[in-house]
Amino acid sequence: MTDFDSPADYWAWHDANGYSRLINVSGTMTGLGGSIVRRSTRMATEAAMGRFVKIHELQARGSDVISRLTGAEAGCITASAAAGITLCVAGCMTGLDPARVEALPCSPGAKSEVAVQMGHLCGYGAPISVAVELAGARVRTVGQSTLAMDYQLEAALTEQTAAALYVVSHHVVHYGQIPLARFVEIAHARGVPVIVDAASEYDLTGFIAAGADLVIYSGQKFLGGPTAGIIAGTRDLIRATYLQNTGIGRGLKVGKESIAGAIAAMEAWLERDHAGIRAEETAALDRWQAVLDGRPGIQAVKVPDPTGNPLERLQVQVDPATASGNAAGYARALADRNPAVIVRDHEVELGYFQLDPCNLAPGQMEMVAEALAEVFDGSADRGRLDADCSSARNGGIDGYLNWLA
Ligand SMILES: *Cc1c(COP(=O)(O)O)cnc(C)c1O
Repeated sequence: MTDFDSPADYWAWHDANGYSRLINVSGTMTGLGGSIVRRSTRMATEAAMGRFVKIHELQARGSDVISRLTGAEAGCITASAAAGITLCVAGCMTGLDPARVEALPCSPGAKSEVAVQMGHLCGYGAPISVAVELAGARVRTVGQSTLAMDYQLEAALTEQTAAALYVVSHHVVHYGQIPLARFVEIAHARGVPVIVDAASEYDLTGFIAAGADLVIYSGQKFLGGPTAGIIAGTRDLIRATYLQNTGIGRGLKVGKESIAGAIAAMEAWLERDHAGIRAEETAALDRWQAVLDGRPGIQAVKVPDPTGNPLERLQVQVDPATASGNAAGYARALADRNPAVIVRDHEVELGYFQLDPCNLAPGQMEMVAEALAEVFDGSADRGRLDADCSSARNGGIDGYLNWLA
């Protein structure tokens, strides 16, 4: 038994239910179902589903595994990373006072501000400010979008500050921000805990080592687990975060299946052949690059991940003057195939898209190579492949507004 479905079985579920066949070369996207969960992790969710278990015990086991993985004192598992942000903020506001927990979000108390650099106020499908505000907290912005300075952070940390939030992500501004070590130093000098949103980061130890008090990871991104948030941190703040399940956390409940699955995914991470998987991903990029090389107006180059995750993507830059279309048009043509090839088109208005090799099921690397060859060869006969950017980013807000419309 392998850890993945066979190429033949892979589409059986789609076909039986009438779902569109798709190959995800865009990254871990909520709108496409996160990541592919290996069979060994799926079995752990399956085992939990058919049984009762004391959730405190399951979460304590989760805490042990999180400590082993991250070096933190303790940990807990939440419904998602976004839920984790809300509950960590709430934990910093209430501590271990159950009455204050029940008072959120409407009576946040005196310490209810969260300092965030303006360049970190990103969206990941929803604004991060909303995750903070769900706890009843207010965002106190630090600096301007492209520049934040020490004195601005210092001035934002007052008697009202519950926490300072630091975001590590390709979504944030990548220059002019206060480095994490300095951010922690300034916050700690004022007794303010630092929460790091590292939802999409591969490094599970560095942020704790840098002094963060709470660090949030997504269970379903690099870890390849079911939808969950993995929270690592100091024992006191983790206990305060977990206590939120008696208040606002109830509406953000995580079930036994996700906790068990997240634990299994973390255990699998400890055993994972990181170098071997990286080599396979690089081979996929080389294969796709070879297909695209030498085509007029097309430049395919491997680019490193912007936050330093051990990962490269193939960036396909399209010059519409010499190619037979624009980047959005090629992306659309790939998405219109069956199976749809969904590329990473976050920045398509800049004239490129990327191919992310992290989420390929067996056999799909070659299917992407064939799709690229057909779309980039065929465009001459079909006429130009030009599109506007409206279908980018999984349809954006229109995808929601048109749903069931
Ligand atoms: C994906 C992401 C989130 C949300 O993670 P979920 O587990 O989907 O809730 C939050 N912050 C950042 C930086 C992300 O990349």
